[in-house]
Amino acid sequence: MEKVIAKTFKKGGLLLDESKLTEHKSIEKSHYPRFVRIPMSQHAGAPAKLLVKEGDLVNEGDLIGEAVGFISANIHSSVSGKVKAITKGNTFTQKNVDIVEIESGGTIKNWYESKRNYSNWSKKEFIETIKNAGIVGLGGAGFPTHVKLSPPEGKKIEMVIINGAECEPYLTIDHRMMLEKTEEILEGIRIILHTLSTQKAIIAIEENKIDAYNSFLNLLSGEPNIKPVLLKTRYPQGGEKQLIQAVIEKEVPSGGLPMDVGVVVENVSTVYAIYEAIVYGKPLIERGITYTGENLSNAGNYKVRIGTPVQSLIDDLGKPENYDYIIAGGPMMGVEISDTSLPIVKGTSGIVFLPKSKTYNVVNDPCIRCGRCVSVCPIGLEPTEIASYVDNFLIDDAVKIGLMDCIECGCCSYSCPSYIPLVGLMRYGKEFYRRKMASIKK
Ligand code: SF4
Ligand code: SF4
Repeated sequence: MEKVIAKTFKKGGLLLDESKLTEHKSIEKSHYPRFVRIPMSQHAGAPAKLLVKEGDLVNEGDLIGEAVGFISANIHSSVSGKVKAITKGNTFTQKNVDIVEIESGGTIKNWYESKRNYSNWSKKEFIETIKNAGIVGLGGAGFPTHVKLSPPEGKKIEMVIINGAECEPYLTIDHRMMLEKTEEILEGIRIILHTLSTQKAIIAIEENKIDAYNSFLNLLSGEPNIKPVLLKTRYPQGGEKQLIQAVIEKEVPSGGLPMDVGVVVENVSTVYAIYEAIVYGKPLIERGITYTGENLSNAGNYKVRIGTPVQSLIDDLGKPENYDYIIAGGPMMGVEISDTSLPIVKGTSGIVFLPKSKTYNVVNDPCIRCGRCVSVCPIGLEPTEIASYVDNFLIDDAVKIGLMDCIECGCCSYSCPSYIPLVGLMRYGKEFYRRKMASIKK
């Protein structure tokens, strides 16, 4: 058999301890939650408009929040039951958003009774169905999928790259999806290609998931326009810019989008959600997550209803005896959770219990000018300089040397011997600048 050479991005990056403890655990259904807390903002763009009030009865899949404008997403009830309260609260990444609290108690719907015949659908029908189903990028960014699939006039999409890199340590849900839902993901890819009038798709998979690569290869012998490609196992291989650089050796310009180089990138779990929306008419009311940590007996991959509080998962699946942090997402780019009443949202790929020994410290000793942060930055930035500007509130100066190009991968913080919270300063500086620009526009 011909030896396949794995591709990778050009600059920086890290080889991390993978800790993929759950890679052999099949996806199971998690418990049916007693109540859910569903935020109206789980996506990039405008929050959805509330459509329900306290006391309303809802069915699983009912629209409870309506997209406002083009860059926004519909929100559906993930259970049947009664709206107990509308509150303001936080999500893992947003503050003070409308949250619909629903006590479950009605029928559990079977979405898989019959397949729809969509062979004669127009592109518009596909996009409308994806929009109506509230599908957003499940890799974490939460960008509404119908927007990605509607490139502006004049932007020709040459290729779709399916992101199966899953480069974060601990997370294995995309890996399991590729193994267990290979045919469904392939059908989802065909739907995307048709919708974008594009011929070519690449499924990009890291070497540590060679079984998933082989599953696609075996099924694709008669379909040369869709191809799996192997990538080196290297963090942050799954970043959009790094992925595109590795697969087609093109650079997305600073401030630009993948479509500027003729590419649309979709995560494998998003592709599966597209498949379910088109084939079964199922809105995005549940997603797969990895629930994991050292010495956690029920560590595994689970399908979880959107809005399920983290505490409800802990009550059902347990937690390790010793851990220091709970992280929503992966340990590199995820968010530490201190409030376990916060709910799983569309962008939550995992819940990870971490001991201190598995994270990087934040102490903030003086910079010793070692240059490690510069050598690992996959964007080619100078994190130490940018962070120093942000620390001194010189945000415009930080922007001039690339602050807004930072992808918040955390490679710099992870490598810093002085434990300077570099990525935290990047996040702070970016948010500050975005708010400043938004207030100027008003
Ligand atoms: S967090 Fe930003 S600055 Fe730090 S390594 Fe990643 S891209 Fe570079
Ligand atoms: S890695 Fe830390 S100590 Fe070294 S140059 Fe960067 S900020 Fe300074």
